[in-house]
Amino acid sequence: MTIGKIIDGKAFAATLRDTVGEGVAGFVEATGRKPGLAVVLVGEDPASSVYVRSKGKMTVAAGMESFEFKRPDSIGAEDLLDLIEELNHDERIDGILVQLPLPGHIDEAVVIGAIDPAKDVDGFHVVNSGKLATGQEALVPCTPLGCIMLLKDELGDLSGLEAVVVGRSNIVGKPMAALLLAESCTVTIAHSRTRDLASVVHRADIVVAAVGRAEMVKGEWIKPGATVIDVGINRVTDTEDGKARIVGDVATAEALAHVRAITPVPGGVGPMTIAVLLRNTLVAAHARAGLGKPE
Ligand code: NDP
Repeated sequence: MTIGKIIDGKAFAATLRDTVGEGVAGFVEATGRKPGLAVVLVGEDPASSVYVRSKGKMTVAAGMESFEFKRPDSIGAEDLLDLIEELNHDERIDGILVQLPLPGHIDEAVVIGAIDPAKDVDGFHVVNSGKLATGQEALVPCTPLGCIMLLKDELGDLSGLEAVVVGRSNIVGKPMAALLLAESCTVTIAHSRTRDLASVVHRADIVVAAVGRAEMVKGEWIKPGATVIDVGINRVTDTEDGKARIVGDVATAEALAHVRAITPVPGGVGPMTIAVLLRNTLVAAHARAGLGKPE
């Protein structure tokens, strides 16, 4: 029995961060200032705090300026919008990221809609999602862009391949499908109402699982030789030793017997997300400085 390849997202992300670091050095030389990334964190959610800290460290390691704005859970929508407006006009800041989820009393769409699209390094603003959908130059959501980079590195030209994206969220599934379409794949988007998901997935040369259900995609669903990108991050507790661990949306051990290649969880798509965020910040900084797209 042949065993598929495990795609090393951690190593790919490290190389991407190095490339961004070189680009940042060039930007500093050309403009005399560092690109700046502002992260807005509302509330005390421990997972979000860890993620924001890690983003800050990597931003600085890439040679950029990191700005953190922490606000209490109780912040009113108007005050948050005022902060966004301030950041939109702050010349030191090229990228603005509002850590989601926001507290229930704040409408996320309104907050994201208030970000200057030119600084929307998460690519969630409707101007950027509209540009992506219509094939225009856009700031593209980090996770799906990271997935495309891994796929192109593994497969080269994706043109004509059958791709199935499981999940239709605005932050992963839909932009992922748009990116695959832009690469001339034949794209199907599956979701919770899809009938006979197993046979839909079985058609695919490329499977992207972005569902949020532990090991839901079974090995036998995968067409032999397919490439699988597992976006899911699910915390499960082992029944034997009671220890928590993180697993993806794909039953990786089973899938390995079928795939050409698969991303592991952890160590696959996860590390790509922050690396692409840094890349998007450099892209935004270049555009704002009138320098064109970085290498
Ligand atoms: P959402 O909850 O927003 O979307 C999940 C999608 O999965 C929905 O479209 C839903 O369908 C679909 N779905 C749910 N159950 C089923 C089912 N039984 N069969 C088929 N489809 C189903 O999640 P996100 O897109 O935000 O995230 C998906 C996963 O990716 C999560 O585990 C998340 O933690 C992870 N993630 C990882 C990132 C990374 O950096 N690696 C970044 C972002 C997310 P419907 O629309 O019909 O409800």
